[in-house]
Amino acid sequence: MEICLMPADLILRQANLGDDAPLADIVIREGRIAAITPHGLVAGKEINLEGGLVLPGFVETHIHLDKSCIIDRCDIREGSLAEAIRETARAKLAFSEDDIEQRARRTLEKAIMAGTMKMRTHVEIDPRIGLKGFHAIQRLAQEYTWALDIEICVFPQEGLINDPGCEELLIEACRQGASLIGGCPYADTQPDEHIARIFAIARTFDLDIDFHLDFDLDTRFLSLTEVCRQTRAHNYAGRVTIGHVTKLSALPSADFVAAARLLASSGVAVTVLPSTDLFLMGRGIDHNVPRGVTRADLLRHHGVTCSLATNNVLNAFTPFGDCSLCRIANLYANIAQLGRRQDLEDCLAMVTSDAARLMNIERYGVAVGHAADLLVFPTEAATSAIAEIVLPRLGFKNGRRSFFRADPVLNSPVPRKHHHAK
Ligand SMILES: [Zn+2]
Repeated sequence: MEICLMPADLILRQANLGDDAPLADIVIREGRIAAITPHGLVAGKEINLEGGLVLPGFVETHIHLDKSCIIDRCDIREGSLAEAIRETARAKLAFSEDDIEQRARRTLEKAIMAGTMKMRTHVEIDPRIGLKGFHAIQRLAQEYTWALDIEICVFPQEGLINDPGCEELLIEACRQGASLIGGCPYADTQPDEHIARIFAIARTFDLDIDFHLDFDLDTRFLSLTEVCRQTRAHNYAGRVTIGHVTKLSALPSADFVAAARLLASSGVAVTVLPSTDLFLMGRGIDHNVPRGVTRADLLRHHGVTCSLATNNVLNAFTPFGDCSLCRIANLYANIAQLGRRQDLEDCLAMVTSDAARLMNIERYGVAVGHAADLLVFPTEAATSAIAEIVLPRLGFKNGRRSFFRADPVLNSPVPRKHHHAK
């Protein structure tokens, strides 16, 4: 154990680090965890966590800040994917940079207060919206570095080959500092060529890739085979993610296992977006409606890096959203019928450590030398945070307190002894 007696910038006393370890003090210096020590060894400015559970900040691998909070501008009749794209495209024509910024700010602040400290946001690029969304989100990413790290994935939601002028704009966004590039082959008239062009741009700018993929339940063909093929051809293992992949939820077990092995051996990661997939899939079926949510936990057992994420917030793709990854992990556990302690730990990993690996984030987690990106929960076990959808009480980003949530108070008519959550 490393014990440094230099004065600390902040000490979080009596932290519960899980796994039945004794309570410890987390010593923070210059934004990093300088030491994790038994109680009372180091002096300095302190906050007593009184046994509160400490977890690393959540990692949101897939959200759309630019088109969040437009549900009042959309007319949902079918609840289909095509309608969601159509309604969003229509609403998007009236977006201004200011409007995007205001809505994205609202979503971002909810995510911060729900514990997100790393975020990959997709931003739409096409000849109609141009770079308005990209510029608005770039400004916010800069402004909110005190609370979270944002990476911007620019992508063509309305297609690429079928949308002249789109590729030039994507390239311009990459020139102006996009963190990575995404694709949406299902929206294109030429899906394979779409995938190839995205790989070409990614290689030019040396960027990772995050595709929206296979967003239906028709299993006659899978775009993921083409993505895996090109990932190998470009030597891009570990740098490609595919999101949704709802077709996998409709495959018989043997085919599912074959797809899982292909993904694992190609180094292609998967993000499952349960809220959106539940809302959009299985429309038109009047009984025994399929859930349409791919089993990330099973893919994970075959060695695929997987995350669970929010995707859309209050729009035609998903008219819900509190930006809580605890809730998304809970929703997924419920759909996938996961209830054992180990299962819930896997769900937590898919919004924390596995999600960090998917985003190629180094030095993630509560450990000496890592950034002090910490959440404190009023609960004993990490699995309760998922099972009970417990929101974090406190957040620290690079060692500085970034939010605080007061505990609700019960107004019982009968006087009761005060009691602390341990
Ligand atoms: Zn998405």
